[in-house]
Amino acid sequence: MTQHTYLDDLRHKSRVIKAISTPDRRFFCLRAVLSTRRCYRDPVPTTQSDLSTETDSPIGLTDLGRVRVLRALAEHRQLSRSELVSRTGLARATVSSIIYELTNGNLVQESAAADAAGTRTGRPPQALSLVPDSAYALGLDIAHDHVRAVLTNVVGTALWARTRPMAVDGDPERALGTAVQLIDSALEDFSVPREKILGLGAGFACPVDKDRRRLHAEGIMPGWVGVQPADELAGRTGLPVQIINDANAGVLAERRFGAARGCDNVVYLRLSTGIGAGTICDGRILLGHGGIAGELGHVIVEPHGTLCRCGNRGCLETIASPPAIADLLSRSWGREVTAAELPGLLSAGDRGTARAIEDAGDAVGAVLAITVMMLNPEMIVIGGDLAAARETLFEPIRRKLNRNTMVCHTEELRIVPSELGDSAGVRGAAALVLEGAPEALALSRAN
Ligand SMILES: [Zn+2]
Repeated sequence: MTQHTYLDDLRHKSRVIKAISTPDRRFFCLRAVLSTRRCYRDPVPTTQSDLSTETDSPIGLTDLGRVRVLRALAEHRQLSRSELVSRTGLARATVSSIIYELTNGNLVQESAAADAAGTRTGRPPQALSLVPDSAYALGLDIAHDHVRAVLTNVVGTALWARTRPMAVDGDPERALGTAVQLIDSALEDFSVPREKILGLGAGFACPVDKDRRRLHAEGIMPGWVGVQPADELAGRTGLPVQIINDANAGVLAERRFGAARGCDNVVYLRLSTGIGAGTICDGRILLGHGGIAGELGHVIVEPHGTLCRCGNRGCLETIASPPAIADLLSRSWGREVTAAELPGLLSAGDRGTARAIEDAGDAVGAVLAITVMMLNPEMIVIGGDLAAARETLFEPIRRKLNRNTMVCHTEELRIVPSELGDSAGVRGAAALVLEGAPEALALSRAN
């Protein structure tokens, strides 16, 4: 089957399967994977009326079954047949039939793994999992000072990653050109068949509008005002492209691969040159009316403070971003201090650096306290460059949270560093594509 026929047929099938709801109600339509439009924010149809109005032809039960089985395996990595039955709600015979088909199609593999089903006697249960190289995803992290790319397999393992440091904010043409070069290199170096690429996810260090095409780049990435990066990247790569804010990408990655695995209520706070938060609430990403929720970096914490690039004064970003801390030290010491020097100064025991980071932690804690009172997360993951300061930063955050919230909000709250570090954004951008993998793989078997 040619790539053209494959994609066209999947697009048609996506219209049929779009309305299928899954037991956990976290179903993402295939259209997200196969078009340049981002779909990760779309609510899941959950009622019969939703289904009847959105479905334009009968839904194949086999398609639905495949999607449920593949989604369960994507979320839980390894499951026994019994676990698949309970997690999908399908009959045992249906699960067996689907597994037979999917293993024959080299999408699912079976192996002996006693740990997949706990302690049992007799024949060890067979663990079922996705075949890692059955599909791939590409991710981009387009930040203020670099372009990073990753190629992952369908289970999210990073197979190839590369970073190009560069000034991105004022030169979208060069940044996009670099991104395309990196993608070409990944595909060439790893010899991935292009028809196995599910799509490209691209994370940006600025808010992304709910129209799924536009950046709110004013004051943040000035050269990108008016640029539609999803269209640009799709046109240059020939791949389906979805775009996402970098903090939202971070929370997807930490929940899927990092510190927040298994957490349904988590806030990821990125403390870098830009500050922003991504939130998973009751298992779903929280984006808000315009798609720009989580801009905690521009919450005002000092009404008469430094002028911020957003046009306000005293935003959190003017206090708790590494460049802001470096500026503070520069003014104090009468010489230029760069953000890159901060880890070295801190580990050398410099009291001024520690104090500035503690003050940053105090301000971060004050903003997070409101977030915690509002959203009641079980975990806050701190990422970005400043997370390297660890307890110097974390201790004042905890202290402020304890002081500014109710006990019931913080007694079970965990505040942890990012496990994925610099790669959270790019891994999350690829994870955005992988959200649609079960539907894409299920429909590919239907052809
Ligand atoms: Zn601001």
